[in-house]
Amino acid sequence: MGAAWQRPTVGDFVLVSGHGDLSRSRRWGQLFADDGEQDRPFLVRFHDGLEPELSWCDLERVRTVDKALEDASDQEEEYQCPICFTPFEEDSQIVTPCGHCFCRSCIENALAACQTGDPTERPCPLCRQTVSLFALKMVRTGQRIHFLSDDLSCLNGSVFVLRSHSEVGFASFHFEDGNAYISHSSARCPFAGLVLDNGSLPPDKKFFEKTFWHQGSRTFHGELIWSPCTWYGSERWRIVMQFSEDLAFVTTGVMKLRSHRHACLLDGVWRVEWGNEKAPDLIRVQGGMWEHRGMRYWLNLTDPAKPCFVWRGLGVTQWCELPEAPLEDGQSLLWVTDDPKHPHIIWKRLRGPYDRYDRIVFYKLLGPNGFEYVRHHELRLQEMSFRKGQLFGNSYLHASKLGVESYHFEELRDDQVARGYISYESMPAETPGMDTGAPVPYRVPFEKTHWDEESRCFTAEVDYLRHYGSTWQGVATVTYRMVFDPEFLYIQSGSVKCLNPAAGTAPAPVAEEKHFGKDLVYINADAGRYLRSQADNGRKPTLQNVSPQIQRSLQEALDAANKRNDR
Ligand SMILES: [Zn+2]
Ligand SMILES: [Zn+2]
Repeated sequence: MGAAWQRPTVGDFVLVSGHGDLSRSRRWGQLFADDGEQDRPFLVRFHDGLEPELSWCDLERVRTVDKALEDASDQEEEYQCPICFTPFEEDSQIVTPCGHCFCRSCIENALAACQTGDPTERPCPLCRQTVSLFALKMVRTGQRIHFLSDDLSCLNGSVFVLRSHSEVGFASFHFEDGNAYISHSSARCPFAGLVLDNGSLPPDKKFFEKTFWHQGSRTFHGELIWSPCTWYGSERWRIVMQFSEDLAFVTTGVMKLRSHRHACLLDGVWRVEWGNEKAPDLIRVQGGMWEHRGMRYWLNLTDPAKPCFVWRGLGVTQWCELPEAPLEDGQSLLWVTDDPKHPHIIWKRLRGPYDRYDRIVFYKLLGPNGFEYVRHHELRLQEMSFRKGQLFGNSYLHASKLGVESYHFEELRDDQVARGYISYESMPAETPGMDTGAPVPYRVPFEKTHWDEESRCFTAEVDYLRHYGSTWQGVATVTYRMVFDPEFLYIQSGSVKCLNPAAGTAPAPVAEEKHFGKDLVYINADAGRYLRSQADNGRKPTLQNVSPQIQRSLQEALDAANKRNDR
């Protein structure tokens, strides 16, 4: 409203904004009456609803408009996508349950742009209400555009393990014959805490129910139902996980642990009788909480036999003594208050406690920001091929033992983070576990990795104390520095430092230090076959600056390869 504003006169079409009794922010109307006084409100006849209605309207909120023009722009607004501002094409206009329209590609991209949580349930770009991909509808036909399929075959035969442990049977997800289950079968399980709330062990195979696959978002949907038991306070775990394009790992997802149990004996619907002329009220108690006349109340159950609560703002306390037997429908509970006007109040149970409610008791993200799941590949020597001149894709073994503290280098990520792990999956049975008694993790990811291509130096650390809550044979942290030969056939130099827990700010004392190439000999898992093929081609391996220990180990690998070939 600037200088151009003109006082509207009777018969003008006006746009009214923010009027008190209007639910919409802008509304059409036509001036109906004018009593001639500047400051008096106008009477406006609204006629955009079903029935024309009249309302007094503050002059300040009224704007004259050219109705035809405004109509056109309203139409335009309605027929263009609020994301790309292009007019809708009939076949691509999508409507959300919250009533907002977008082009199909715009809304799908907007929903997919959120990186964490359930990738099929995201906030609407306009109003932030949660929108499920499966609730999007074509405006023209009213039909849904995304469907869940019960065909899980694309995941058949795959196993996904927690990256932190990489252990099959340690909360691993298995997809077999169109079914899905979570496994807790590992011999190294259970360690403390991995039991259901009633103390029983989780079953080896717990099958998912209500399983679905959505190809468009590459998401698996399923529920683990533990009832009548609970786990982490929940009878029903709803899990949605999205897989990477190559189905090699879980990119994002969510675990929603739901519960419909009653947190409180008094949950249910009650009629409150005040003991005087005051009309009774109905309240619904859920989880020990209820609302009454816009106020929230919580039961104080410090003494479970004597619940009490305080009348908010009045300081009146109300308490009762709970009978031993649970209150059935129709039975009454006598409350006492310190308000002389209502010394006694009666609650009559109408319904409950079987009036169930459903809430999320635990919410955990899947993917790099939460439980990180990766597809499990069993380590097989015959599948390990030497990748000459590069680190990633190679594995290094000590004394040809796979899975006995062997090093595996996976990839250099786009953000230059080097990924790799140490495998302990074939440690001899007599190997001592973690100092808390927990099993040694199958695979331990290298952390704080740094890879310097030029010097062929890889550094990393493993913090047992921080990640597994335990030292291992007194060692809290291990730091690694490995320098590879130019071909990447062996670890030429560097060291492994085992550190005891640090006391205060002092640097952690070194418990043990070993040197690669001397007391610690690691050669490529495929070194024997490679050396043999070199020898077949009449090439002698160049083993300059190689310690006698490495030479010996390489020779053993070559001998073993020759022996395998002779057989
Ligand atoms: Zn668009
Ligand atoms: Zn919306």
